Amino acid sequence: MNGAIVLMYHNIADPPAGKDPLGLYVSPGMFRFQMWYLKTAGFRVVSLRDVLSFIEGSRSGERLVALTFDDGYQDFYDNAYPVLRNYRFPSTVFLVSDLIGRENSWEDDPCTGRQRLLDWDAIHAIKTEGVVFGSHSRTHPFLSRLSPDALRAEISGSKSRLEAELQLPVDFFCYPYGDYGPGAVDMVKEAGYTLAVTTKRGLVHEGSDPYVIRRSFIRGSTNPFLFLLRLHSGYEDRKRAD
Ligand SMILES: [Zn+2]
Repeated sequence: MNGAIVLMYHNIADPPAGKDPLGLYVSPGMFRFQMWYLKTAGFRVVSLRDVLSFIEGSRSGERLVALTFDDGYQDFYDNAYPVLRNYRFPSTVFLVSDLIGRENSWEDDPCTGRQRLLDWDAIHAIKTEGVVFGSHSRTHPFLSRLSPDALRAEISGSKSRLEAELQLPVDFFCYPYGDYGPGAVDMVKEAGYTLAVTTKRGLVHEGSDPYVIRRSFIRGSTNPFLFLLRLHSGYEDRKRAD
């Protein structure tokens, strides 16, 4: 692998029967295998801050892996965090700031079902334990459809809300649905974030744009062979669609 890889997860849980058309659920057993493999194969699991240092040329990118979890589901706390703590792996969880302690109400599709999101008690319990919290907007809209004022509220407003509650800086942003345009990127910069992640496929290289970070989407269908292929080769860059 020539470059760092940022893995994108959503739910770490067994999928509700017939309710995972997007493949967002990775089973706890498969997740444990994946983390065990990263440790055993000698990958260096680092924070997004370290990925930024690599992009800027101030550290080597060799065998660098960063773990990201979109939407901030309660199952992160129940099923992913205990494994991460065991391996002392840092991670970043992207929260939807108006929906803390509620459900993923942006998901209109009845096929995918509603899931509980982390509440403040759980967030406070792990915020200094290797878990960094980033913003995934206030309400999870398609950013390219918003007026400039609404865009500011979603991007800048979520940052201030999370920082006020966490009493920590919130430096990273995750575009909902991977949807962004020049307006969103400019607003993310203006709001003071240092890095933003997309759903575009590929590896991260020295000199990559830190405001459109590519990731590797780990799904329930990502079997061990595919997981290894993504880590040990330039597969993700060869599969780039743009
Ligand atoms: Zn999301």
